[in-house]
Amino acid sequence: MNLHEYQAKTLFKEYDIPTTNFVVVDSHDDVENKVQQLKTNKWVAKAQVHAGGRGKAGGVKVLDSIEEIETFVKYWIGKNLITYQTDEIGQPVSTILVEECTNIIKELYLGIVIDRSSQSIVVMASPDGGVDIEAIAENSPERIFKVPIDLIAGPKREDALFLAKGLALSDEQVEQFVKIFNNLIQLFIDKDLALVEINPLIIDESKKLKCLDGKINVDSNALYRQQDILKMRDTSQEEERELKASEWDLNYIALDGNIGCMVNGAGLAMGTMDIIKSSGGLPANFLDVGGSVNKESVSEAFKIILSDKKVKAILINIFGGIVKCDVVAEGIIKAVEEVGVNIPVIVRLKGNNSEKAQILLETSSLNIISESDLSKAALKAVELSR
Ligand code: GDP
Ligand code: MN
Repeated sequence: MNLHEYQAKTLFKEYDIPTTNFVVVDSHDDVENKVQQLKTNKWVAKAQVHAGGRGKAGGVKVLDSIEEIETFVKYWIGKNLITYQTDEIGQPVSTILVEECTNIIKELYLGIVIDRSSQSIVVMASPDGGVDIEAIAENSPERIFKVPIDLIAGPKREDALFLAKGLALSDEQVEQFVKIFNNLIQLFIDKDLALVEINPLIIDESKKLKCLDGKINVDSNALYRQQDILKMRDTSQEEERELKASEWDLNYIALDGNIGCMVNGAGLAMGTMDIIKSSGGLPANFLDVGGSVNKESVSEAFKIILSDKKVKAILINIFGGIVKCDVVAEGIIKAVEEVGVNIPVIVRLKGNNSEKAQILLETSSLNIISESDLSKAALKAVELSR
């Protein structure tokens, strides 16, 4: 689950990680009242969406008067912000963060990710922060300094010092950095984060370090024990199909290809995507319908796949162990009766009640292609998607 910048900064404040004073508005009527809490005559207004690249897309602006802030807020609220990180529709803007403008001396980068290969979290820092960090990562990866953190021993001062050296900080800033480093790791662990990114972390006129941006991703599997974080969820920012799927407890992830997949079991779903790819096609989604599905949830899953207009063929690969194949067949038939289907559907059903399922599908009005060999089923799906 992603957080908005203002939510990330609220957590930073809680963990004594320096940020700028800010207010959050959701209407231009609010601006004058709220902005008075800030002691400045120069502000930065920032559209709040779950995507980066806002600066380059006009979603971040330095403003000199209350009127300008009101105009900015009026312009963006209710609109979609399209950046290089969003799709062509963009993300809806319903809140704007307004903060005291900082005079930036230097922009740095600081982030923490989970690194599976070192089985730890890794803190990354670069002296070349700012809106072009992706280009730095691509062209000069040696400018990004990394340290793995031993979660049992805890963060070590020498690791913080190594990054501080990479950032070319002054002695005074090194101590500020060590504190930010320790507090950010603590926040990461306490709140079950999967990613935190501060880009830019800046040095201001008084030589102080400050976080001007904040991106946080929380491990969704931990949300059951992060109730205060869960309250920050903004479903308006989530992919429509993924949101719908989550309401039905379906593990669905939207992808870019044109072959819709319906599979039971995460491993089999991964394998199915692989075999589509190695047969020359591209999956439109990952979908694990799980073992506890019923006719209704299968039907919803099928409708979610169909609602993706990129989908030109559907490959259903069910290995009935816990899940019964006939329940899946009934769900598919129900969905098709409700919304219709005019693209090829290739089905491979094996295991629990597969004969019963086969009969159900054959006697339905559906144009279904049955193929019990997975390699052949995948090839067929790729061929028919073209
Ligand atoms: P992003 O483009 O979505 O990552 O949004 P950011 O919050 O990182 O803002 C983009 C850029 O706007 C930053 O890299 C800064 O260069 C600039 N910016 C943001 N806040 C301030 C500020 O307080 N003062 C100045 N001068 N520039 C700012
Ligand atoms: Mn940024």
